Amino acid sequence: MSFGRWPRVAGFFRFPFACTGRVCYNSGVVDKLNVTNPDEIQLALDEQWMRVALAQAAKAAELGEVPVGAVAVLDGRIIGQGYNRKESDQDPTAHAEMIALKETAVAVQNWRLLGVTLYCTLEPCPMCAGAMIQARLPRLVYGAKDVRFGAHGSIVNVLDETRFNHRVSITSGVLEAEAADLLQQFFQMLRNGKR
Ligand SMILES: [Zn+2]
Repeated sequence: MSFGRWPRVAGFFRFPFACTGRVCYNSGVVDKLNVTNPDEIQLALDEQWMRVALAQAAKAAELGEVPVGAVAVLDGRIIGQGYNRKESDQDPTAHAEMIALKETAVAVQNWRLLGVTLYCTLEPCPMCAGAMIQARLPRLVYGAKDVRFGAHGSIVNVLDETRFNHRVSITSGVLEAEAADLLQQFFQMLRNGKR
């Protein structure tokens, strides 16, 4: 099966900031928007980082993996990122979020991810939601809902469980349509390829 069309899809994403290696800096995307409302500024920043997570998801699609991406941000820079590699690695735990969380823990040399925001294109599964609680992740921003495995209300609600000693602050639905489109295009392509 060929996934040769995916680079064009990946090319659709435009980065509003300079990206050198693994460290990406905001180059004034908020200034250009001329927004002063704190909520609008937060949304602009969330969308900026979510576009990076979407680009990670596109990388997964290029490998024939279900396109899910994640990016961890601390103090305005990327310190961990990942995309779904379950098939490539033949590893049931190789979800985008797990890879990004592990990379982040190595970067900060601490399992406790103080001050980190994780951007995921898809609602986390119970495994990843559990890892976020274990990591004491302060904030999660995700895009589309996952009606098959979602652990923020779609199937179970691990992330809003008050009996855990940690609650993750959550913003959902950021660039939801883009994340859902990526998944739909991928599954459509799989269906077409099987004919
Ligand atoms: Zn997961």
